[in-house]
Amino acid sequence: MDSANSIIVVGGGWAGLSTAIELTQQGKHVTLLESARQLGGRARRLPFGPLSVDNGQHLFIAAYSETLRLMKLIGLKEDEAFVRLTLKLMLKGKDTQLELNTGKLPAPLHLGWGLLNARGLSRYEKAQALRFSMHLYLSGFRQKTDCSVSELLSAHNQPANLVAALWEPLCLATLNTPAAQASAQVFLRVLRDTFGLRRSDSDLLISRSDLGGAFPAPAMDFIERSGSCIRLASRVTELKLDKNVVTGVCLGDESLKADHVILAVPPHIGQKLLAPHKQLSPLAEQLGAFDYQPITTIYLQYPEDTHMETAMLGMVGTVSQWVFDRTTCGQPGLMAVVISGPGAHMQQDKEALVQQVTAELAEQFPHWPAPADNMVIREKRATFSCDVGIEQLRPGNTTATRGLWLAGDFTATGYPATLEGAVRSGVQCAKRILAQIQ
Ligand SMILES: Cc1cc2nc3c(=O)[nH]c(=O)nc-3n(C[C@H](O)[C@H](O)[C@H](O)COP(=O)(O)OP(=O)(O)OC[C@H]3O[C@@H](n4cnc5c(N)ncnc54)[C@H](O)[C@@H]3O)c2cc1C
Repeated sequence: MDSANSIIVVGGGWAGLSTAIELTQQGKHVTLLESARQLGGRARRLPFGPLSVDNGQHLFIAAYSETLRLMKLIGLKEDEAFVRLTLKLMLKGKDTQLELNTGKLPAPLHLGWGLLNARGLSRYEKAQALRFSMHLYLSGFRQKTDCSVSELLSAHNQPANLVAALWEPLCLATLNTPAAQASAQVFLRVLRDTFGLRRSDSDLLISRSDLGGAFPAPAMDFIERSGSCIRLASRVTELKLDKNVVTGVCLGDESLKADHVILAVPPHIGQKLLAPHKQLSPLAEQLGAFDYQPITTIYLQYPEDTHMETAMLGMVGTVSQWVFDRTTCGQPGLMAVVISGPGAHMQQDKEALVQQVTAELAEQFPHWPAPADNMVIREKRATFSCDVGIEQLRPGNTTATRGLWLAGDFTATGYPATLEGAVRSGVQCAKRILAQIQ
């Protein structure tokens, strides 16, 4: 283990863990400092009665290649970690019923086949969706100047019903930002990676365990077995610099020396740590310019024999947006209702929100009894707001200060705020550090 260059990672979310794994894998000694009592950050486990659930239902797709590579590296087997499902989108609303199954053809024909055979779309809507998809494929899912997803859709004459039943829910689910303000460039990147390369990339992966077991716990094991160190409940309060070179960090009264410090914290925390240093104020301001979007998850515990036909169901025209049947994760009868983005539900009393969501589910499933237990989790800063022009705001991993690095879903990965974005950023950051050390 090489400890000639001391390396501190600040933050034990998926980005910080990925940086630490990649560095320890290359024989470097790392100290990871996490302010919370557990690892995982915005993708962590939580207790719910006797169960262990997540701070929000997370969905992986098979296109998350770096996440899957790192999981394999630390000893996880994909088939033990995930249930793999071919993409099947079911969206239901008062006047909507859309069913889209991607076929067995190679990409992107599988999407074309799915749109052509979708239930709930008129011939005209299918033709317009196909025309649009063909255009995206032929243009490499790229567009030179950014605009909103809504503008992109209207420039390609997507009919109102198709927009409301398919494109808007897809945009909100993947970018966690309403289509009217969401970046078309990032949306196209998601569509390319999901539908444009390999058929299997669009497969859904549902974690069999809670999010803690899915990565943070085995990652901690791997990092500590490799001789590196993880300290929980260790909040970094100050970044130490000598002129324009990093020298370490402070945790209250304690100070730790380091040649390299990776800030793997969300932008608003990074801003606070950078702001006291004059030479870092432009970067602090850049991080301060990020906006955020919330995600609300409502867990409803029904009797164990309660289940849906599919692992997930989209709901249109209701406060509830997606319902996940956690039978797939070995939690029969437990439904996770997800609401992405802002709305009146953020201010609503928890009990009233549970009542509303339960009533909406009862419309779809009139035979279900009332849920026996519930839990509402509102993550106010779940993701950065993936707005038009966001790519110009996102910093890289390197900074103008020697030894100071950034990692996290907000860095310039081209991805929206996702686990894959966080992991890619962490791995990329580690590679840059290794290149500099060598
Ligand atoms: C409810 C919800 C649902 C989501 N759904 C999905 C999904 O379905 N699919 C998907 O791919 N992504 C999803 N995401 C997004 C995904 O969770 C995030 O993009 C990802 O977890 C971000 O990881 P990160 O490491 O960049 O940041 P974080 O997870 O925020 O990690 C930062 C870490 O730094 C720690 N920290 C902060 N300050 C300090 C300090 N001063 N000192 C030390 N440590 C500090 C924090 O405690 C945290 O552990 C969802 C997010 C939420 C909240």
